[in-house]
Amino acid sequence: MKKLVLCLIILVVIIVSLFSVTKYDPTPLTIPIPAQVTTPLSREAVKEDWVNALRSVVDQTQDVNAKEVLAMLETQTVLAIPTVDGLKVMGHDKPIRIVVLLPEDSQYPMWKEILDEKVAGAYFLPQAEAHAIVLKNGNEMSLKSKGLLLSHEGTHALHYLKKPFNEQMSNIQFCREEQSTHAAENSLLSSLGGKPYENFVAARVANMASTLEQTDAGVHLAMPDKSYKELRNIFGPWQSEKEGFMWVAGAWTDTMFRFVDLYGSGTQSEKDEMKASGLCSLYQYLGVIPKEG
Ligand SMILES: [Zn+2]
Repeated sequence: MKKLVLCLIILVVIIVSLFSVTKYDPTPLTIPIPAQVTTPLSREAVKEDWVNALRSVVDQTQDVNAKEVLAMLETQTVLAIPTVDGLKVMGHDKPIRIVVLLPEDSQYPMWKEILDEKVAGAYFLPQAEAHAIVLKNGNEMSLKSKGLLLSHEGTHALHYLKKPFNEQMSNIQFCREEQSTHAAENSLLSSLGGKPYENFVAARVANMASTLEQTDAGVHLAMPDKSYKELRNIFGPWQSEKEGFMWVAGAWTDTMFRFVDLYGSGTQSEKDEMKASGLCSLYQYLGVIPKEG
C-alpha cells in the first residue's frame, strides 16, 4: 500500500511538473529539418506508390507473372538508400534491394548518371554489389505506365533470383534476358489493352510481313514508327513522349515476337533466339547497346 501511495505521489509530481513546463513555456518546441534532407520514410512512400501502381495493374488483369513480381516485391525486397559509394540497406538485407532515387541524390556521381537518364523511371541493376530495382519519383507517369514498368523490372529481378546474371553480359545474352522478360510483358500488354490492342497488333504484324525485306544478311524489320502513337488511345493518356515510347517499344516488341512465331521456321527455342536477335537490332537502332563489330 505504501508503495502504491509513493507511486501515486511520484506520478502526481511528474504530471504537475509536465503541466507547469507546458504552462510556463510559451515557446512551441521546434525541431529544425533542413529542406534538402529526405527521411527514409518519404523514399518508402515513393516505393509504395510504385508497388500500388503494380497492384492496380494486377487487380485489373490478374496476370500471373505480374502477380509473382508483386509477391516478390512484398516479401523479398528491402529499401536501400543511395550513398556516395553505393547504397545502404535499411534494416535486414533481403535478396533484392529497392533504391528510390530523389533529386538530391544527384550529389553522388554514380547515382547522378541514372537520375539524368531520361528514358525510364525504373531499372534493374544486376551488379553483385547492388542487385537492386531502382525507382525514380515517377510522379509524371500514369499509374498504368508505372505498373507496366515495375512489372518489367521486377521480372528481371525474378530471373536474377532464379539464376543470377551481371552487367558483364554480351549483347546477345542481354537481348536473351530481354526476350524472356518481354515474353511475360506481352501477355500483360494484351490483358491491359484488350480487343483494341489485339486489333492494333494484328494490323502491325500484317504490316511487318508486307514491308519486310529479305537480304543475304537476313531479314530487315521495320522499326517502330509514328503510327504507333495510336497506342495513346489504348493505353494513354500519357504525359510525355518518353513515357509513350515505353508503350511503343513494348508493342513493337510484341508485334515482332508474334511475327516470328507466325512466319519464323524452326523450333520454339530457335524462334526465341530470332526474337532476341530482333531485339538486339532494335536496341542498336535506339543506341541502347553498342553495335558489335
Ligand atoms: Zn528490360
